[in-house]
Amino acid sequence: MSDDLRPTPQPGILDISPYVPGKSGAPGSKVVKLSSNESPLGASPKAIEAFRSVADHLEIYPEGSSKILRTALGEVHGIDPERIVCGNGSDDLLHLLGQCYLGEGDEALMNQYGFSVYPIITRATGASIVKVDATNYAADVDALLAAVTPRTKIVWLDNPNNPTGTYLSDAEVRRLHAGLRHDILLVIDSAYAEYVTAADYSVGLELVGEADNVVMVRTFSKMGLAAARIGWMVGPAHVVDVINRIRGPFNVNLPAQLAGAAATRDVEFTARLNAHNAKWRDWLVSELDGNYMHVVPSQANFVMVLFPDAEHAALAFETLMQRGLIVREIGTSYGIPHGLRISIGSEQAMIGVAGILKALVKTAS
Ligand SMILES: *Cc1c(COP(=O)(O)O)cnc(C)c1O
Repeated sequence: MSDDLRPTPQPGILDISPYVPGKSGAPGSKVVKLSSNESPLGASPKAIEAFRSVADHLEIYPEGSSKILRTALGEVHGIDPERIVCGNGSDDLLHLLGQCYLGEGDEALMNQYGFSVYPIITRATGASIVKVDATNYAADVDALLAAVTPRTKIVWLDNPNNPTGTYLSDAEVRRLHAGLRHDILLVIDSAYAEYVTAADYSVGLELVGEADNVVMVRTFSKMGLAAARIGWMVGPAHVVDVINRIRGPFNVNLPAQLAGAAATRDVEFTARLNAHNAKWRDWLVSELDGNYMHVVPSQANFVMVLFPDAEHAALAFETLMQRGLIVREIGTSYGIPHGLRISIGSEQAMIGVAGILKALVKTAS
């Protein structure tokens, strides 16, 4: 037996850096986590009840196509359930899309500040990720179109964008789509759709219905069910068929299917989340945006706060941490070392963040 002979992963896998999640406090500690864009209002009580309802039957396989969940999504969003695929979080579906439509020698495009999972998914297939310059921290449609080559196979677009909170209007997304070859798949990742208040935004469903090369991906993670791991996508029949061929046969567990279906129907709870978020997002921006800190206008359940430089951002991060408030550093993962991403949390958490950061400004100036 030779010591240097061992299983070797596919070329490129070892060049991928693992995803860095937002920091958490030690279990049981009293820290407030504002680093992962989780719901400050918990989950829909109806979803919790549905999740619990199957605790006595964990020996039974779930129905494999997530029919209960697809039916609820179809009803509430006006979509044919046959065009929906559910996943173990939207990550599951994004990985499947990459696996099915990318390979060695292909390219996928993303905004330079897009979601940091896209490069991982892309590189894992042997394809290359092309990061395209943003304008004012938002995806730039002209720059994306200029970056298309004969090798381009996917455009990843998180809209709104994580971690900047910026968004593209429906007209801009349509302009992007109109400029793409028909064999390029446009993946619209609408992870923060529940929180958008801009009137010219579209979640992407109409475009999916009109085009043969657009899919929309969504998640329950930002609306109170991150632990349950539920995502869903809507696409043209031919893409749905492809994903259904290779997804895990039972990729969404039964408690998650039931909780997702109940949460989907609990539109009042979703509206409450949106109202809480809109109120405290506006409030936090009005408190923080000024000469020292700049808050990039956000349509999501977080804001990106920009400081004069990386040292000020690090000081703000440490000070908040010492006071039990954990926010997200975006230097290493996103190349914005002078920024912090702060989730919109409870009233108490927002008042805490604003007070601490404003006191820091006084000390610094
Ligand atoms: C949080 C997030 C997701 C969701 O991931 P899940 O796997 O569903 O938890 C997807 N895309 C973006 C841009 C996100 O920020």
